[in-house]
Amino acid sequence: MNESIIFANASQVVTCAGPGRARRGKELGDARILTDAAVAVDEGRIAGVAPLAELRTRFPSAREIDCRRGVLTPGLVDSHTHGIFGRPRYDEQELRAAGMDYMEIARRGGGIHSSVRDLRQRPEDDLFALAKPRLERLAAFGTTTVEVKSGYGLTLDDELKTLRVIARLQEVLPLRIVPTFLGAHEIPLEYRESSARRQEYVDLVIHEMIPAVASARLARFADVFCETGVYTVDESRAILTAARNAGLMLKLHADELTSSGGAELAASLGAVSADHLAAVSDAGIAALGHASTVATLLPGTMLFLGKTKHAPARKLIEAGVPVALATDFNPGTSPTPNLPLVLMLGVSQLHLSVAEALLGATVNGAAAVGLADSVGQISEGFSADLALFDVQDLREVPYWYGDNRCVASFVMGKPCHTSDLGVF
Ligand SMILES: [Zn+2]
Repeated sequence: MNESIIFANASQVVTCAGPGRARRGKELGDARILTDAAVAVDEGRIAGVAPLAELRTRFPSAREIDCRRGVLTPGLVDSHTHGIFGRPRYDEQELRAAGMDYMEIARRGGGIHSSVRDLRQRPEDDLFALAKPRLERLAAFGTTTVEVKSGYGLTLDDELKTLRVIARLQEVLPLRIVPTFLGAHEIPLEYRESSARRQEYVDLVIHEMIPAVASARLARFADVFCETGVYTVDESRAILTAARNAGLMLKLHADELTSSGGAELAASLGAVSADHLAAVSDAGIAALGHASTVATLLPGTMLFLGKTKHAPARKLIEAGVPVALATDFNPGTSPTPNLPLVLMLGVSQLHLSVAEALLGATVNGAAAVGLADSVGQISEGFSADLALFDVQDLREVPYWYGDNRCVASFVMGKPCHTSDLGVF
């Protein structure tokens, strides 16, 4: 049954209202905070944002939810996660602390390769059982839309297995899930002995995996890890071009550790997002400034890896690039489900304003997953995806860092997460 609901008595309704597309420049700094507004929901969509008395007149039979002076925001959009994995890789943390870097851990068979070995030997049901509570933890922090990548299978069967798990999670979880095929996450160990073998894997991705994924409609996006020592710009271009021809939208892991031309490639292919960008060059920033590509920044990864070098968020914004923030939730380099924590890092490490950080995880996060026309803002006609925080001012969301102030969230007006308080 589709009932009408009025969300009443919020201290602030932060609408992020505006055009249903990525925001850039000054637009990114305007979160549209209302202090005397309620929100009406009808048929799963936002039906009105107005003073409570007015909404009561317009929707006389609506059920009211008391927001108890909390802050109501659009449901958060986590536009970059690797949420399907087996064993958590906590053992690598001490190796890093002792001075071993990411590439060195990978060369020793750790890193992504250890997650690949682990995932390949797990049955689909086992992976599903592990992933479900992990995604529920993301929802517990206010995330209502989450992009989830494959990429720890690296065989046709194991990539399809991962994507089937994502599809099954969408059936049972209230979260909105956007699936991404990342068969080009790494070169599998068994294909690394020669450049001919390496090319065989690239061909496998292009000629077998992408057609199979596209025909089974198991992914909306394709992504590639373009990085020195992983996929070259030319390999990334070939894979993404094949993916685009198969009807998939494009993402790219670009310029995370070194500047290898990833941002320029993403811009030239019209990728929906270019992600990481901690090492993006000035030429890459300029290229993104002339493109429609969203720059998805992942400061939690840099924090967890103990790095002090962050993506040049202010330079990107000054160049007119729309910026988004995401967790990069994954077992090796960013095992946090806490998107508000990433907002704090956006402010403290990337020098974003609170409004810029929030829009990066709502409107621009939605743009990074191709949903900005229906998700990410509290405006009439948009999906009623909402997050309620037990704070009185938006600026507290990225302030109580590490704490969880999200008390409830809703997708299309239906509960997605409710805290132990259980009052919603
Ligand atoms: Zn990633």
